[in-house]
Amino acid sequence: MRILDHESDVICRIFKAHLAGRTAREIANGLNEDGVIAPRGGSWDASTINGNKAHSHGRRGRTPKRPFSGLLRCGKCGGGMSIHDRSGSAIRIRCSTARESGSCDNDKRYRLDKIEHAVLAKLKAELADPIYVKE
Ligand SMILES: [Zn+2]
Repeated sequence: MRILDHESDVICRIFKAHLAGRTAREIANGLNEDGVIAPRGGSWDASTINGNKAHSHGRRGRTPKRPFSGLLRCGKCGGGMSIHDRSGSAIRIRCSTARESGSCDNDKRYRLDKIEHAVLAKLKAELADPIYVKE
């Protein structure tokens, strides 16, 4: 699965923009202007980021249950990932295409909680960077 580098950069960018008080629509516009390709291909809109159109207004909307689940892609087919099973805080995700149609042969399961942890750790490290502390 391709979460590292490019996609975690995008996720970090989205989180930083959220922290700065930007709305999902503003974040989406910024990503489109910079030519960042949305997870489903094409352009970003508020629902790409929020994962739910109902929460596209206001910066303090309810946060999605799993912050990155809508942004993760299968490394083989590029399809979305969906939750496979969970036990306690351990949540496993797998390729939706493989599960639903079998046209992708990626049957690996990934630990979503570990992915979230890794991305948040990276984000934390970036936020500790003096470049963001200025002003
Ligand atoms: Zn796949």
